Amino acid sequence: MSSPPKETLLYGIAASPGVSHGQVFRFLHEEVEVPSYDVQEDDQDAEIARFEDALSLTKNQIEKIKDDVAQNLGEKEAAIFDAHLMVLEDKAVIDDVVSEVRKSGDNVEQCLHRVTQRYVEYFSQLEDEYLRERSADLKDISRRLLCNLLGATAAGTAFLGEPRILVSEDLSPSDTASLDRTKILGIATDTGGRTSHAVIMARSSGVPAVVGLRRLTEQLSDGDTLLIDGFEGIAIINPSETTLFRYGKVNLRRKRIKDLLDDEGSFPSVTEDGEKVTFFANADTAEEISKARDHGCEGIGLFRSESIFLRKNEIPSENDQYEEYREAVVAANSLPVTIRTLDLGGDKILDSIGREKEENPFMGFRAIRYCLRNPDVFLNQLRAILRASAHGTVKIMFPMVSGIGELVRAKEFLSTAKRQLREMDVPFDEDIQVGCMIETPSAVVISDMLASEVDFFSVGTNDLVQYLLAVDRINNEIAYLYEPHHPAVIRSLAHVFQVAQDKNVEVSVCGEIAGDPHFLPLLLALGVRCLSTVSPMIPELKFFARRFSMADARGLWEGIEQMKRPSEINQTLKNFYDERVSELIT
Ligand code: PEP
Ligand code: MG
Repeated sequence: MSSPPKETLLYGIAASPGVSHGQVFRFLHEEVEVPSYDVQEDDQDAEIARFEDALSLTKNQIEKIKDDVAQNLGEKEAAIFDAHLMVLEDKAVIDDVVSEVRKSGDNVEQCLHRVTQRYVEYFSQLEDEYLRERSADLKDISRRLLCNLLGATAAGTAFLGEPRILVSEDLSPSDTASLDRTKILGIATDTGGRTSHAVIMARSSGVPAVVGLRRLTEQLSDGDTLLIDGFEGIAIINPSETTLFRYGKVNLRRKRIKDLLDDEGSFPSVTEDGEKVTFFANADTAEEISKARDHGCEGIGLFRSESIFLRKNEIPSENDQYEEYREAVVAANSLPVTIRTLDLGGDKILDSIGREKEENPFMGFRAIRYCLRNPDVFLNQLRAILRASAHGTVKIMFPMVSGIGELVRAKEFLSTAKRQLREMDVPFDEDIQVGCMIETPSAVVISDMLASEVDFFSVGTNDLVQYLLAVDRINNEIAYLYEPHHPAVIRSLAHVFQVAQDKNVEVSVCGEIAGDPHFLPLLLALGVRCLSTVSPMIPELKFFARRFSMADARGLWEGIEQMKRPSEINQTLKNFYDERVSELIT
């Protein structure tokens, strides 16, 4: 009798809560390693047959994706895949690969790689923009072909049958945006940090995730199953019956907690002594907004508009954007929606705009910096947002502001967009509120100056922590230094909240700490009353808020103010939480 596969335990970073178990689905990333070996002359026919099989498999996959996209998004969107199908039928490319196999005596993966490289280089140097863009199609399709030759899968899960645990070295936000989330039980990656955008998306759709597992992909073999524990940051390859039984009990306990929290929607959102706390939700799509309303949110504090760009993998037209924003506003059903203008760059890269690779993308040509240098893109977006404001309550928010000049110029663009709409008699909210993110250290320091230009601040702690502590938010080598409990972060928050109060500017927090229940009493004691978070966390936050008073929270802060070490602060917040919500943790 063969022995069961060995159970292997790996520790990573808990990125999105929940436990799931299932077959793995290996999602290969852009740079697929191309094997290289000799093929004897007698075996070359078989090698070419392998290539032909991969061509027809790839064609079937693309046609299926095309049909799905046509059904779900429309014929126009589906037409993107025609270019891919044309490459697969291009006789010149196919003949070149076949003759390369014959001439070089190398394996077909190597030959395919060499031929497509040649074409890609040629296309990308051409003047004609349309032809230049074809090089991206060619790259994409050759990656898919390569994966099919290697028996691995890449570029989307649209053709995935059963739900699986998605395993990858890394996931980019555009990968995550293109995944069919209904087919993903969980996500486990070798790299990444808790605030990488791919992880934030997983968390907002309630998919458990563990990241930073380092060598997980290397250790998995075909047919392995994986259990991921997104509470503790653990992944277990081929869990034993005993382990599954133990986790079955964990899931039962979570189910009990969920039942306990399900009623939260009907309770007021106040502390034990009646201080009102407003919970907004962060969302990327109209569907997420509808779900967020079910979780009891009172508005959308952060609508990440770039997710529309990433899903479409191009810059959408003003009308397409308007439709998306309008749907979001309608889904909010008269609750306010804060639409953040485009925050591309950092880990949110749009392949199709063909930007130079940057040495330090998070400190580079990102967000408002990109918009101010691309007036057409910016004005298109501002007009689309303004037009959506005619359908409900919309607020506009500018990301990554690091100096007053950027904010003033962004507002000038907004005035231009308003004037253009007025001239065309297009309705919009003339009094639309304008805010900015506080997510750079310079914005913290000059928050009093910024306050005179805006109606509201939203503190983006995901970036603020990385810039303040000089710790890349997606680098798992230094994830232990990414400490939101650092006194420098807490003092910065205290400063911004105080300035907001003095200057009479609304303030909220929309970084991930807003959804971490341990932080709640501290944030309230520091002076903020509005938090915007991934919506599945709202019931637990409300449940906790009703179990302490503001006097308790201020007492907690008095103790923390004296503490020097993030670990001590972290433990103190945890103890405060554990003492008050024992129903949730026993
Ligand atoms: C932040 O930086 O905290 C934030 C909310 O923005 P993002 O995570 O999209 O960079
Ligand atoms: Mg940010």
